[in-house]
Amino acid sequence: MSKPDEAETNQRHAQAMKALKAEREALMSTKTEERGLLLVHTGDGKGKSTAAFGMAARALGWGQKVGVVQYIKGKWVTGERQFFSRFPDQVRYEVMGEGFTWDTQDRARDVAAAEAAWARSLDMIADPTLSLVILDELNIALRYDYLDIHKVVEGLVRRPPDKHVCVTGRNAKPELLAVADLVTEMRLEKHPFEAGVKAQRGIDF
Ligand code: ATP
Ligand code: MG
Repeated sequence: MSKPDEAETNQRHAQAMKALKAEREALMSTKTEERGLLLVHTGDGKGKSTAAFGMAARALGWGQKVGVVQYIKGKWVTGERQFFSRFPDQVRYEVMGEGFTWDTQDRARDVAAAEAAWARSLDMIADPTLSLVILDELNIALRYDYLDIHKVVEGLVRRPPDKHVCVTGRNAKPELLAVADLVTEMRLEKHPFEAGVKAQRGIDF
């Protein structure tokens, strides 16, 4: 490309960016509300829990406090649990699950664990010191009807107005999606599991 062409391209780019900036500023000036959000990460692709913990890192960076309730994955030692335990003053972290549902093979026990996790979740949601509460894999407990969806939706809708709550897990129920402010579906396109690669430290747990 010759020099004059590049100068022209750069000028056109600058004009386009100026227009885009004006458009964005006009749009942003209409977004004035500030309140606690109900966020749902669902879908069959990887990244639901990772994205939730990424938000926790953001909140901690601002000096905010975060609560985490892990449903389901009870016995696993995870990188996130080890990491967040370094911030005992800023993070309340509860691992409530008894393990995967196919590990326990005991519905009554799973229901009891889910009920205990929900009680702890309500307690965190009511805790005025916590800005963000992550209910990791709550969708799994709902999917197997370990918890009543209406009871859970009511508890989430009645949260304090400034409280952010993030629910993760596949197969989110439509009743939950209906009351959420943000729903992101992680879509599976490719996963190393299909090529015979097992879950890896630092990536999957
Ligand atoms: P992550 O915790 O890695 O963000 P996730 O929360 O989106 O994953 P889960 O349904 O909670 O997904 O599954 C957790 C584990 O299963 C992780 O080890 C993840 O890599 C793995 N996993 C996620 N999606 C798939 C998939 N489509 N096929 C196989 N394994 C998967
Ligand atoms: Mg997950």
